[in-house]
Amino acid sequence: MLELRPSCEHCGKNLPQDSTEAMICSFECTYCKECAQEVFQNVCPSCGGGFSPRPIRPKVHLEENPPSTLRVFKPKDLNKHGEMLERYRHLKPEER
Ligand SMILES: [Zn+2]
Ligand SMILES: [Zn+2]
Repeated sequence: MLELRPSCEHCGKNLPQDSTEAMICSFECTYCKECAQEVFQNVCPSCGGGFSPRPIRPKVHLEENPPSTLRVFKPKDLNKHGEMLERYRHLKPEER
């Protein structure tokens, strides 16, 4: 089950479970749309994968399956991300 983390790992922006701005990679690294698309250019700084919009869990399921309240805040070193970008940005996620 998705954790539905409450905030962007890079800039700390709040991403409540019903946010339409939350983006995740296949490992659930979670970023706001701006960081995922503009800062990281659709290359996850941890795994090199692409991002997809995080699905929104219907309200009726939230009581039994609440979103995570644990904030993960690990701003990324953009110099290091440069190498990852070089390697992957010209490849679509399905070709990485
Ligand atoms: Zn962000
Ligand atoms: Zn990732």
